Amino acid sequence: MSFFDTFFPYTCVLCGGHARKILCDECLSAVKPYSGKRCLKCSRPLPGEDNVFCTQCLKGVAFEKGFSLFLYEEIREIVYSLKYRNMPHVVHLLSSFSKEIRESKIFNGVSFLIPVPMHSKRIRKRGYNQAGLIARELSSIFHIPVIYDVLIKQKDTPPQAGLNYKQRLDNLKGAFSVKNTEKIEGKTVVLVDDVYTTGTTINQCALLLRRKGAYPRFFTLSIASPSIFP
Ligand SMILES: [Zn+2]
Ligand SMILES: [Zn+2]
Repeated sequence: MSFFDTFFPYTCVLCGGHARKILCDECLSAVKPYSGKRCLKCSRPLPGEDNVFCTQCLKGVAFEKGFSLFLYEEIREIVYSLKYRNMPHVVHLLSSFSKEIRESKIFNGVSFLIPVPMHSKRIRKRGYNQAGLIARELSSIFHIPVIYDVLIKQKDTPPQAGLNYKQRLDNLKGAFSVKNTEKIEGKTVVLVDDVYTTGTTINQCALLLRRKGAYPRFFTLSIASPSIFP
């Protein structure tokens, strides 16, 4: 066994070089949580704006607040590896950023984490739900239990990518349902997903949970900057 194989047994997800864990030291130091100005409610970047809330939050959203760690554009390759390259271990990257996540206070006073569910047909195809993996990782860092039997994806919907806001909304009609609602009544819960794009999915799920007496928030690994959707 060579020196590199012993001390850097992994292949960096971003550059293919030798890595101690998921990323090599160089790539890890280049991956940075978004540190610019954010919407006070949903945490979407608001660069160069005088507002404290984004347009969408001003119109009204179903969640209490949300936090996204990275800009999607900056960690696209990592999200791809997690979703499409069968690399579920990429999710352990989150533990390197526990300080930043803690500082967001998004998990303060939270009873449960709820991954945005995927239809069972798609889970069989991919082998896992990436939102579930992220929730499990967060659960091990922050010691908050994950619940899987409250929010259910009952309809297999086509992927949201490439659809505009209105189409996304139509696409999600009747897609989710809520069960075992006594578990979440009066509780603060955090919806967990990989990417927050237009926020349609998170908002739809938050609405269903809120109707059952929960106080939903969200955490996503990344958030798309407003320029990439209408
Ligand atoms: Zn690298
Ligand atoms: Zn907002």
